[in-house]
Amino acid sequence: MKIVAISETTLDMAEATRNAAVGFGGMTASVAAVAVETAAGRRIRGYAIDSPGRYASGAILRERLAPRVLAADPAAYLDASGTLLDPWKIRALAMRDEKPGGHGERAAAMGLLDGAIWDLIGKLQDKPLWAVLRGPNPGVPQVPVYATCGFYRGEDDLAKLRDELVRVVDLGFDTVKIKGGGIDLDADRRRIDTALECLGGKAKLALDCNATMALDEARAFLEAIADLPIAWVEEPVDPLDYDAHRALAAAFAVPLGTGENLFSAADARNLLRHGGLRHDRDLLQFDIGLGYGLVEYLRILAEAEEAGWARERFVPHVGYRFALQVAAGLGLGRHEVGPFQRIAYRPAMSGACAVPGDAPGIGWEADPVFADLFMTLDR
Ligand code: MG
Repeated sequence: MKIVAISETTLDMAEATRNAAVGFGGMTASVAAVAVETAAGRRIRGYAIDSPGRYASGAILRERLAPRVLAADPAAYLDASGTLLDPWKIRALAMRDEKPGGHGERAAAMGLLDGAIWDLIGKLQDKPLWAVLRGPNPGVPQVPVYATCGFYRGEDDLAKLRDELVRVVDLGFDTVKIKGGGIDLDADRRRIDTALECLGGKAKLALDCNATMALDEARAFLEAIADLPIAWVEEPVDPLDYDAHRALAAAFAVPLGTGENLFSAADARNLLRHGGLRHDRDLLQFDIGLGYGLVEYLRILAEAEEAGWARERFVPHVGYRFALQVAAGLGLGRHEVGPFQRIAYRPAMSGACAVPGDAPGIGWEADPVFADLFMTLDR
């Protein structure tokens, strides 16, 4: 078997919404495909897509990572049986001559390659990725989900917020996250009160502040909502400011979520060493695809478990079906779904859980929205 093609295209993800940090008017994302030709002459493709929010990273994949893999002898990336891809070897090959540290967009480009490889690993065994990760006798996994919505919208913001919250409850979600920290504190508190009133106890509410507040602003925000039943507050401060995380965790009972903007095992290690996060409540939200892929995520998970963290505390940022397969396969705590975002993603649900299904690999092709997207790479 040989890897014969690695392709990438940049998607327009523009929409007229904001979080506290950025507007999405010029947003892009990468989709990628990796094609293998088997010994029997069969051509099979694996696919990957970026989580939204950090722009496409195709140039790094096309100019640096892909050529190293395509030039290699297949023995350098096949497993011991010679019939399956070895994602650890592919990671090492693609990252040859890349210096440690400074992870940034290279981590997303590597994550695309890694994601497409894991899709192929499932397809080559005719198994869903969750079953590959869970091993024998896997049972039928279901993953608790939450809906991300309630982005800031300039016009009719509150009416649109109410409309989305009614719809997510109708779709079966029992936990919902909206944006916070992006407007004047009094106006934000009114918006949060409106959301709680609208949910009427039918779903829990979490708040995502997208890492824009200084420590004193974060303290004021958390004090302003301290009397409310908030499931968690996400990224109240800069993702790399571990002291600030420790100060907030020491002062406020509300669970904190963070990690979606840390893209390496080294950064995750520093967060867990120095961020003061609490094993009994806080959420670790490392993005699998944006952070070098599943090979790196497994390293992070192993180190965190060693440090006393349960898998239930892991709630990966977006990731679509890739993150769902990984959460189902590894028994992670929850899966993030953006039902109204530019790529409307709604996995099959059973109650308030997502069901990854039996399609081989990541199963992108089982969803018409993603099947259409990846078709563009095959033309
Ligand atoms: Mg977030």
